[in-house]
Amino acid sequence: MIRKNTQVFVSGAGIAGLTTVCAFAQKGFDVVCVDPQKPITNVKSFDADLRSTAFLQPARKTLQTAGVWDCLKPFSTPLDIMRLADAGGAENKIRMIADFASLEISDEAFAWNLPNWLLRRELLNYIENLPNVTFLTGQKTGRVTSRISEILVQVGEVQYSCKLLIGADGRNSQTREAMGIPVQTWRYGQKAIAMAVYHTLPHDNISTEIHRTGGPFTTVPLPDHDGNHMSSIIWMETSAKANVLFEMDETNFNSMLNSRSCGILGNIRLASRRNLWPIITQRAKRLTGQRYALLAEAAHVIPPIGAQGLNMSLNDLATILELTNTHELGSVSHLSAYEKARKKDINFRINGVDALNRAAMTDNKSFLALRLKALQALHGFTPLRKTLMKAGLGA
Ligand SMILES: Cc1cc2nc3c(=O)[nH]c(=O)nc-3n(C[C@H](O)[C@H](O)[C@H](O)COP(=O)(O)OP(=O)(O)OC[C@H]3O[C@@H](n4cnc5c(N)ncnc54)[C@H](O)[C@@H]3O)c2cc1C
Repeated sequence: MIRKNTQVFVSGAGIAGLTTVCAFAQKGFDVVCVDPQKPITNVKSFDADLRSTAFLQPARKTLQTAGVWDCLKPFSTPLDIMRLADAGGAENKIRMIADFASLEISDEAFAWNLPNWLLRRELLNYIENLPNVTFLTGQKTGRVTSRISEILVQVGEVQYSCKLLIGADGRNSQTREAMGIPVQTWRYGQKAIAMAVYHTLPHDNISTEIHRTGGPFTTVPLPDHDGNHMSSIIWMETSAKANVLFEMDETNFNSMLNSRSCGILGNIRLASRRNLWPIITQRAKRLTGQRYALLAEAAHVIPPIGAQGLNMSLNDLATILELTNTHELGSVSHLSAYEKARKKDINFRINGVDALNRAAMTDNKSFLALRLKALQALHGFTPLRKTLMKAGLGA
């Protein structure tokens, strides 16, 4: 067995893992990152991640700290208005629109949207030029042995002695399992179809969530492409309906898309394949172990509503990184401060998004009427509207 030393070991090179690598390396730490899969950076590849991520203002700040925002910015589309549209009446028509404009609370956009495959490409390019990073793909994080002063992580024939192991290895995290941290999981019998679409009307930098039944239908602006307006779409439905939609031929699917979008973007047609994602909520019972910290989907999974998922993950990253200013890396005090700092926000967002998702799924007529009234009341009262917008951003 060959033995090597590093300060930080990141298990998993999803978007959260890649950003974590950049941020710790930028701060001067030696970092090793391992993922069995090479990140897919070509949109045409069959396994490409066709989702997009809207980075809210605090997440943008974390990307700046990590040194990667300048590479990402040219590809991003600002979101100036978050629009909630209720289409829960008897006809598939929008009966109320509530706009939440970033200008009401800030002089900047709410968020900046980027396709996930492109994020991976840019983050990977950036990492290739970082001298203090060892990036290994095609191998996985193996046996983990934790001690007071170090954590030993096995990768093939090499054993790394590290000060901190970060588990960013996704919702089925193997490092979390190795550290004996249990999870609670809620299932909704719901799936999301993710895709990019072309449309005839401009999006005007507005992201719209249309609520009817089965879950929200969300449009998120992308840059124009080949003279076509473009957006990414997350369409949440009960699993049975989502499976049918996913299998449907393109012509019929386009016609369903046009009906569900209620014409807000004019005529819509697919611009990519479709990806299908099961929707769950999941929470790790603890965020830390000896010399070990969980972040991102390894720690929490939520339904894709209000662009909270990866944004919450970048809040994890910002917190654990900032705490290295005042605590020794990976020490008991560092990790207990991280656990304490993140718990409340994570629970707040998990519970909030869970409630929003249940309200968006319902097909109960009385509840649909109540949902409309609640939206009218929340939006109509300016101080509450501003508080909601700030809470959505993480304040
Ligand atoms: C449909 C949909 C839309 C979404 N939209 C948004 C949005 O607009 N805004 C937002 O903020 N969030 C959004 N999210 C959430 C966001 O996409 C996820 O939070 C994020 O992609 C998860 O990133 P991750 O890096 O934690 O996990 P993953 O992307 O799952 O990465 C985990 C990595 O760990 C690796 N791995 C697994 N096992 C091992 C091992 N033993 N050793 C080493 N590596 C291992 C895997 O290969 C993988 O590369 C959305 C989610 C869904 C489902």
